[in-house]
Amino acid sequence: MGQLAVSDLTTQEIARFQSRIQHGPGCWIWDGEVNRHGYGYFAVYRNRRRVRFLSHRLALTLKLGREPNGVTRHTCDNPPCCRDDHLLEGSRSENNLDAVARGRHPGAWPQAAHAARVERARNRIAARIASGVKRCARCKIVKPLREFGPYRKAADGCQSYCRSCMNAYSRSRSERRPA
Ligand SMILES: [Zn+2]
Ligand SMILES: [Zn+2]
Repeated sequence: MGQLAVSDLTTQEIARFQSRIQHGPGCWIWDGEVNRHGYGYFAVYRNRRRVRFLSHRLALTLKLGREPNGVTRHTCDNPPCCRDDHLLEGSRSENNLDAVARGRHPGAWPQAAHAARVERARNRIAARIASGVKRCARCKIVKPLREFGPYRKAADGCQSYCRSCMNAYSRSRSERRPA
């Protein structure tokens, strides 16, 4: 392990770190390498050696302007989250107590990486709803969401074909139907 301090990171490295955090409506998810527990890693190179920082800890360090004491805890219990107001510094035993309080046990962790993927997908959908546009799966044109019919089962509540493609599609189906 290289003893590289956060204060040794360059402005460009910090900008690269921050660009890998997806700002969702809730958690801000690390969009890079994660370990099997779902915690993110940010890597830099010094003398051709890779030095890695835990992404959530780095986020808290940048907020505090110093190394956090003890372990960095998530108030949201979401390992890849790097939203600094979801992070607290605390002792390892406090962290274990948090885990017990939330009914989590060590064996439950492999789900964290999956949870991170789900959260990333949710953030993408939320961003799409916020942007008010969506790309039609048939004509491939990006159109306003109101050009898509409602579909309750879809995560964004909209059909994947735009209204005019939907019309063309149902017309072609009814034409093909035997009399
Ligand atoms: Zn969070
Ligand atoms: Zn279309």
